Amino acid sequence: MTAPRLDIDLEKVRHNCRTLVDRLAPKGIDVTGVTKAFLGASEMAQAMLDGGATSLGDSRIENLQAMRGFSVEAPMRLIRSPMLSQVDAVVELVEISFNTESSVISALSLSAAQHGIVHGVVIMVELGDLREGVMPDDLSTLVALVMSLPNVRLAGLGTNLACQTGVIPDVAKMDELSRLSDSVEVEFGIDIEMITGGNSANLSWALSGVDTGRINNLRLGESILLGRDPLHRQAIDGLHTDAITLVAEVIEAKDKPAMPWGDVAEAAFSGQPERTGDGTIHQAILAVGRQDIDPDGLTSPTGIDVLGASSDHLVVRTMPDAISVGQEVSFELNYSALVRAMTSPFVERTYTEHPVLAVAP
Ligand SMILES: *Cc1c(COP(=O)(O)O)cnc(C)c1O
Repeated sequence: MTAPRLDIDLEKVRHNCRTLVDRLAPKGIDVTGVTKAFLGASEMAQAMLDGGATSLGDSRIENLQAMRGFSVEAPMRLIRSPMLSQVDAVVELVEISFNTESSVISALSLSAAQHGIVHGVVIMVELGDLREGVMPDDLSTLVALVMSLPNVRLAGLGTNLACQTGVIPDVAKMDELSRLSDSVEVEFGIDIEMITGGNSANLSWALSGVDTGRINNLRLGESILLGRDPLHRQAIDGLHTDAITLVAEVIEAKDKPAMPWGDVAEAAFSGQPERTGDGTIHQAILAVGRQDIDPDGLTSPTGIDVLGASSDHLVVRTMPDAISVGQEVSFELNYSALVRAMTSPFVERTYTEHPVLAVAP
């Protein structure tokens, strides 16, 4: 098989999604499967849908186009504010987009009218993470605009935390979104259908047993794919953290001095890679690099430690005779390594399916 590659176990992706969907359902929260980390690959999108996601969300129109092209059947949402230059593609492709700008919403209205359709607008509210969103004080003005324009409808309210500055989606933040939703409903005499509280970082809050208020949707990517809570990168109980693994091939395996010799200046990337120890170590090189992965985001198997990486070489320390040239090594990935591997043209993707074993009741 070709290397480097991502080995993707669709059954594990499905299991992760199903487990989260089942845990959130009693709280009245449904799941939008977020597809952006895998460029809208239809196999993965389908695994999320089979795992109970009721819709798919992506931040890039190209990924949504790809899924439509592969006949993935699901409601789809653009979860990043549309580019003004792409409003036509947006209304043609998705039922709903997430918005924060009046000029974009006006353009969506115009385009939807030309297409003879009604486009759903979710307004994103800024609650402190300082990425997208209208300030809470400006929410009512933007809602009024949506309600006044033809061919757009208010599909919901939402917020996104923990992505830009790491602000935690806690009870206070989520209660604020619930309160804002209540006040918009009272002011405009409407029922808001979707209140989308956030991403995988919201799971601790959602599953902690607190009252989840008006929130009835979460948009989950990382937790489904990697089985981890992004707030502390801890494994989520009952989920697989190895649904996706990176496989790379060894191209050099030699005993080498632990420390470099000669006068030392800056390395190709950042400062000097950290090396410690003395004597001789067992070092190996894998044919994968910073173009394909984030070396800090790899978890190596026991007995192998990542020492550093340049564009095309991943240098590891190994146990004696642990690996030889031609051998493959599998790593678990964090989100940063995953996104880079998914977007690298040098990394193949291989899908595996484990037979679903019948479990005795
Ligand atoms: C990426 C993204 C998500 C999904 O985040 P995960 O941490 O992968 O669950 C949800 N909402 C928005 C707006 C996003 O950009």
